[in-house]
Amino acid sequence: MSSDFAATKAVKARKLHVCDECFRAISPGETYHRTAGSWEGDFFTNIACAHCHVFRKHINKADPDYFESYYGGAGEWVANGYWSALDLPGMTWTQRLGLYRMSQHFRDRWRDRVGHLRPIPNHPTSLEAVPTGAASVIQGGK
Ligand SMILES: [Zn+2]
Repeated sequence: MSSDFAATKAVKARKLHVCDECFRAISPGETYHRTAGSWEGDFFTNIACAHCHVFRKHINKADPDYFESYYGGAGEWVANGYWSALDLPGMTWTQRLGLYRMSQHFRDRWRDRVGHLRPIPNHPTSLEAVPTGAASVIQGGK
């Protein structure tokens, strides 16, 4: 779902919520991200856990088509294995590996083998979506 407008704010959970991306339980005390917006005139809301909030930014940076399903589309993106898509022209192997790992963690609802919640992924180095050849040049310069 893309949107005509959307505003996201960080909220501290006071009761149990469910993430609309990975469907994990968000426990009271955790920070989650609530988006309210409009898509073709229809009001919508979306709740994302802290992990998925960052994961979506990584996907959006890598995949020029992802903005169409930014809210609620992470599961489909992972299920389709798009981290391996060859039409992500600006992707470095490091980015691709990072997206692959995050996709695995997303599938596990961000929990490790013993059930502990994993650390929140780091934000992308730039929040700008520059998934073109220029991005690899910029990345390569670091
Ligand atoms: Zn989530």
